[in-house]
Amino acid sequence: MSMAASHAEGKRLNDVIFGAAAACKEAVAKYGKDKVTNATIGVMLDDNEELITLPTMAKVYKEIDIKDIAAYAPISGIPEYLKAVEDLTFADCRPEGYISAVATAGGTGAIHHAIMNYAEVGEKVLTSDWFWGTYNVICVEQGKKLQNFKLFDENQNFNFTSFKENVEDIFKTQESLLIILNTPAHNPTGFALTENDWDNVLSLLKDFANKGKKATVLVDIAYIDYAGEKNEVRSFMKKFGNLPKNILGLFAFSMSKGYTFYGQRTGALVAVSSDKTVIDEFDAIMKYTSRATWSNINRGAMELLLRIQNDENIYNAFVKDREEVHKLIQARGDLFMKEAEDCNLTALPYTGGFFLSVPANDPQKVADLLHKDLIYAVPLKLGIRVAVCSVPLNKIKGMAEKINNALKI
Ligand code: PLP
Repeated sequence: MSMAASHAEGKRLNDVIFGAAAACKEAVAKYGKDKVTNATIGVMLDDNEELITLPTMAKVYKEIDIKDIAAYAPISGIPEYLKAVEDLTFADCRPEGYISAVATAGGTGAIHHAIMNYAEVGEKVLTSDWFWGTYNVICVEQGKKLQNFKLFDENQNFNFTSFKENVEDIFKTQESLLIILNTPAHNPTGFALTENDWDNVLSLLKDFANKGKKATVLVDIAYIDYAGEKNEVRSFMKKFGNLPKNILGLFAFSMSKGYTFYGQRTGALVAVSSDKTVIDEFDAIMKYTSRATWSNINRGAMELLLRIQNDENIYNAFVKDREEVHKLIQARGDLFMKEAEDCNLTALPYTGGFFLSVPANDPQKVADLLHKDLIYAVPLKLGIRVAVCSVPLNKIKGMAEKINNALKI
């Protein structure tokens, strides 16, 4: 018997990540934490496998007056927070044009709001075949379909040919299209589009825009603070300036990783357009969706960001904290990639971030075989995801070879 409304019947979260994590927990109970490699966890853990929280963030948060945490916030977010988020999103690479932002419950909320307002019900949203599964969950929840292009070509470069084929295919039947690109430090591969890839993507969309089609590009920058030098990793953002008015740029900003504030559910959706009416509309429809979804979001987290942003000494200390943990996780990813090269394991091109991936024909089988070595990683559709953010360097050592061996069985 189901009491659910007909559209809600049978909805189930099939979360492979939690499945893999549960198997790992059992192994830890049986063999002890030291013997087990848990590469399933998507948050940064230190070398003792404890959750990393940035010390300056923790200190500043504790100093916030309880009234500034407990009070309601404006529906669209605290205005100064939104301005600060624009600056943080673009740094020195602010595109020319009209820009606005709305506060959201994490990056997930930003993605939710983008799909809600820029994809037609019953139509397709496009993202890559290696992708964060939540994109699909949100699309399905809202009656939209996620279509995938192949992220990599045979040389492990951005597969522009596949991207183009998919855009062309969808525009045969749709007047508008929302495209989600998670870059830099892509989950699950650590990949980033190059400047040249961006030129190709935007030039293709301009061709369609000239024919009257509408394109919205949502760039998911959840991991950007762990991708490399601040302005180098943002230089592509300038390309979103002076685009035709029927191309809208959106950026999903998140405090989860950048501030190690995961559970406080704070982020923003930032929009760029050459047309003021598009941005005015963005403000109005986003406010409406916020009211209809969560009303307003976490005030204390917005206060935290502002206090870090508005005091130079605090900001410098905060950035220093973050750089330290960035180095820690980068060293883990780099060691894996070096060992992969040494043993001829084909890992996907990792440049930075929390995750890297290894393609496999039968990911579940490979993940299961790795359990014999007490290594727990996430079997995705196309391969194995390794969360370098949570595995100490001494446990990364030797992992590439073990994965390589499992792939050969
Ligand atoms: N985008 C990607 C690719 C992610 O992996 C995540 C979190 O895991 C997010 C966005 C958003 O995270 P949050 O909603 O915690 O900001």
